[in-house]
Amino acid sequence: MGDVIVIDESEPGGQWRYGCPNGHTDWIKRDGMIQCRSCPHPKIPGRVSYDVVLDLKTGQQIAVDEVRVR
Ligand SMILES: [Zn+2]
Repeated sequence: MGDVIVIDESEPGGQWRYGCPNGHTDWIKRDGMIQCRSCPHPKIPGRVSYDVVLDLKTGQQIAVDEVRVR
């Protein structure tokens, strides 16, 4: 287990350092997953879910469990 990463959405650039595995930053956290609004979904637009987020600065994938969104 790594350190818990806190993403403060009220901070400028807070959420935007992290993206879905395809690099989109237009996501929300819900039910222990993130939902990306920018990833194409075959049936339901805007409803693609992942259990990791991508740190756009380091290129590392981080388990959603280790991410807190304030
Ligand atoms: Zn995406």
